[in-house]
Amino acid sequence: METLAEEEFPEIYEQALKYFGEQAQACQAMEECGELIRVLNKAFNRKDDKYLLYVAEEIADLEIVLEQLKRIPEISDFYKINKMIKLNKLAETIGG
Ligand SMILES: [Mg+2]
Repeated sequence: METLAEEEFPEIYEQALKYFGEQAQACQAMEECGELIRVLNKAFNRKDDKYLLYVAEEIADLEIVLEQLKRIPEISDFYKINKMIKLNKLAETIGG
């Protein structure tokens, strides 16, 4: 298997969304959210460091599927606007 270069990621996200479909990837996102919640709870609420590796894995899983959902045309523009507004608010809050 050839390793992908980072600039190839956007194309892979779009291909994956087409291949699996929006409905399937929305369900995948729900599943990955659940998995991340479980490992965050184990790593931080139970203070068990061995789960930090699983946190990293689940963050990657969730990010990959979120990148796909962000590319759904009806979501894309609103996502960008919301992200900008929320990041600006955050910067204001922390004095950035
Ligand atoms: Mg996962």
